[in-house]
Amino acid sequence: MAVKTPKPTELAQIEHSPSFTGWMDVPVQFREGVYCHAGKPKNLEAVGLPNPREWAVPDEDWALPSDWMEIVRQGFKDRLDRYRSFHVFMDICVRCGACADKCHFFIGSGDPKNMPVLRAELIRSIYRGEFTTAGRILGKLAGGRKLTVDVLKEWWYYLFQCTECRRCSVFCPYGIDTAEVTIIGRELLNLIGLNTDWISAPVANCYRTGNHLGIQPHAFKDMIDFFVDEIEGVTGVRVSPTFNRKGAELLFVTPSGDVFADPGTYTCMGYLMLFHALDLDYTWSTYASEGGNFGLFTSHEMMKRLNAKMYLEAKRLGVKWILGGECGHMWRVINQYMDTMNGPADFLEVPVSPLTGTKFHQAASTKVVHIAEFTADLIKNGKLALDPSRNDDLVVTWHDSCNTARGMGFFEEPRYVLKNVVNHFYEMPENTIREQTFCCGSGSGLNAGENMEIRMRGGFPRANAAKYVHEKHGVNMMSCICAIDRAVLTASMQYWVPEVGVCGLHELVANALIMPGEKERTLNLRGEPLPGVEEEEDV
Ligand code: SF4
Ligand code: SF4
Repeated sequence: MAVKTPKPTELAQIEHSPSFTGWMDVPVQFREGVYCHAGKPKNLEAVGLPNPREWAVPDEDWALPSDWMEIVRQGFKDRLDRYRSFHVFMDICVRCGACADKCHFFIGSGDPKNMPVLRAELIRSIYRGEFTTAGRILGKLAGGRKLTVDVLKEWWYYLFQCTECRRCSVFCPYGIDTAEVTIIGRELLNLIGLNTDWISAPVANCYRTGNHLGIQPHAFKDMIDFFVDEIEGVTGVRVSPTFNRKGAELLFVTPSGDVFADPGTYTCMGYLMLFHALDLDYTWSTYASEGGNFGLFTSHEMMKRLNAKMYLEAKRLGVKWILGGECGHMWRVINQYMDTMNGPADFLEVPVSPLTGTKFHQAASTKVVHIAEFTADLIKNGKLALDPSRNDDLVVTWHDSCNTARGMGFFEEPRYVLKNVVNHFYEMPENTIREQTFCCGSGSGLNAGENMEIRMRGGFPRANAAKYVHEKHGVNMMSCICAIDRAVLTASMQYWVPEVGVCGLHELVANALIMPGEKERTLNLRGEPLPGVEEEEDV
């Protein structure tokens, strides 16, 4: 059972003083509330991951394969040979410390091994000790050490306290990307069956049923049908989505978090309303029913396998291009990996908006357009009737999701949409937004129930910035374009700044959207009275 999470006042007492002992001499101490449960064998078996067995994190014996050391050494060597960036990152850190205080986990926990420089050093020290002549001979004197079970445990503990957000890399004068080091470190751990179940279960589910919750196609369709009824109740308009329809112009893929968890569900209703208002020729797929890619948190190979379904389904259905919903890691994978992993998608066309004729040149290679750029283009070309006053009960701020903002340079399009659908918008402080945005605190597969303490610690800097604009401008809503953010920030706002809610961008778009044939709107998508309506009814 998960331990009780300390109160915010207790958690905010953070000690940032250095240890008097060398870091290599500080053994890892597993504390409940900080780590996720171990991956279950059935989930590893489902996708052929190595060493499926029952094990628990507090166990002394993690039931590793007898040749684990050789497997990790060989895996390390393979990756040094294969990824030039990884090899360079192992060599060039000058310990300047510019990254040290930039990680939300270090800020929120004060644990020195959560400084990006030291997190990477956990792996770099093995590189030196096992793969360089100086390190092999001089050991600790050259910053090297040998692989041991304790080292593995330390890796596991701290690599699953990194959300691979890449904030530290923005400040590194050498461009070292600790997120990439974490990605490869986790990949090495996966070679010997050291996973977390909050990652391996979604991976297995995505592989088996197409989405991370393991929802069967008929249940997926039932959920969308439920939204159809809800939308009709609010607008009087019955939208008519199609599923697995061959010959549609577009395939729409969004994270399944939008379909199954509030507040993402309101965003999902927003997509349905927008597409209906545009009379868009699109279809959902019940096979590619997950935009998110938990393979990214596991290994490059797993990322590739899970990503493949989007192109496979686009080909099967014969669409022209793919429109993607609001998600973080879905877009990091599309933007940075999809074309080389599973492309080129020569069977698709360079995306052109059927409403405005705009050619999305930035998607010329992936053939996937982000819904925020699609909607921004619609607004710019006067294709949407909008009444932003319907969102006048909200004072909104914008959370740049790490993967879309830092990962894609996607800063202006969502802000442009937002400013056209709300009247009250305020930015959080400059050093916490855009490229310098702070992570939600639980991305990259850390959004479990049992590690709530570290999640709240990691979410502290983001929440602190939200608290600032709440107190200064009365901000009461944080909007974002990431399904994990919507789940994670809801919990961390409730914990740190309960006055601030969380929503997706297209929930706000849909509230403001004047749909052809709609009845007089009195409710927003959450079923709450629109601003002004309550007073009128009282009179
Ligand atoms: S990638 Fe993000 S979570 Fe990981 S060390 Fe860097 S700042 Fe911290
Ligand atoms: S900023 Fe870069 S070079 Fe400096 S300590 Fe961090 S990783 Fe090393």
